[in-house]
Amino acid sequence: MKIAVLPGDGIGKEIVAEAVKVLGVLDLKLETETALVGGAAYEAHGHPLPDSTLQLAKASDAILFGAVGDWKYDKLERALRPEQAILGLRRELGLFANLRPAICHAPLVGASSLKPELIAGLDLLIIRELTGDIYFGQPRGRRTATDGHFPGADEAFDTMRYSRPEIERIAHVAFQAARKRGKKVTSVDKANVLETFQFWKDVVTEVGAQYPDVALDHMYVDNAAMQLVRAPKKFDVVVTGNMFGDILSDEAAMLTGSIGMLPSASLNASNQGLYEPSHGSAPDIAGQGIANPLATIMSAAMMLRFSLNQAEAADRIEAAVGKVLEQGLRTADIHSEGTTRVGTREMGDAVVKALRG
Ligand code: NAD
Repeated sequence: MKIAVLPGDGIGKEIVAEAVKVLGVLDLKLETETALVGGAAYEAHGHPLPDSTLQLAKASDAILFGAVGDWKYDKLERALRPEQAILGLRRELGLFANLRPAICHAPLVGASSLKPELIAGLDLLIIRELTGDIYFGQPRGRRTATDGHFPGADEAFDTMRYSRPEIERIAHVAFQAARKRGKKVTSVDKANVLETFQFWKDVVTEVGAQYPDVALDHMYVDNAAMQLVRAPKKFDVVVTGNMFGDILSDEAAMLTGSIGMLPSASLNASNQGLYEPSHGSAPDIAGQGIANPLATIMSAAMMLRFSLNQAEAADRIEAAVGKVLEQGLRTADIHSEGTTRVGTREMGDAVVKALRG
């Protein structure tokens, strides 16, 4: 089992080091190789995703990714900015399924901006299609309008489109994930207005017929945005397109309180995956040793479960994280009165200790 370790920029290096440390005590035959990505790769090789890094990623079973980006690169031309590395990896590896669990750990119930009773026990999984939709649809651009409300005016346009195979494969990911959980899929669309999403709804319904053991319902995206803060525990697996998923997954992330707690996985058709925390490189706290490594550690657990077929080891890591939280250990982002504040390294050490003990 080969893992490409791509720490990236900012806190990426600090948090990935803790996840690698945790993987190291598991007694699994894991081969890891580290490479530069993002701003760090731009500094060394003049490109955020050098060919050597891409080849390593392609040759690995999974990628453990930290985060990329720093404000200092904002003036670079778009193709050389650190964030292009992640888009390049998604494209080159065909990572079409983005899985983002939003789990409320009992000891952190007070960290959410929602009332505790709404989120205690929350465990939902958002599955976002990652390579299609209006973000990638062609044609797109700027031109002079020849029709519409203002013919002759400058205008910009994008194209929303989904093909049947694109919808089918993400729907299968959702139904199969639901089978291992609460056996319920909510497909989020805007079928009342958009042709693309009427088609989405039709195809998801067809795929759903192959999974009679999984309940399927459909919800318009505006209602889904509302229900996620009104009654989030009603959801099990939510599947949706790229743009709606982008927005809803961040909304779901905040249900749990801190972005420092949220892992994610991006998978391709052969279950090769890129695993990363949902947050960015946090340049404001980089180098201070205070970043929360738990999202990255739990991303490593997802990697064991989805790409490396080591569900038991994944369970062990997640249980160890739960134990550390129960012990009252907290990094600054989740710290509250009566708990013990620790740094990045101490948090990683505590997870290792919980795993060993
Ligand atoms: P961010 O997620 O990096 O930070 C937002 C806030 O959350 C900051 O206050 C930060 O200190 C805090 N935070 C984030 N992760 C934390 C952790 N593990 N522990 C404690 N606190 C944490 O988002 P941003 O500030 O908007 O972006 C910073 C850089 O990251 C930008 O260059 C952006 O483009 C990049 N970015 C990268 C990714 C990625 O690599 N996939 C994703 C999002 C943003």
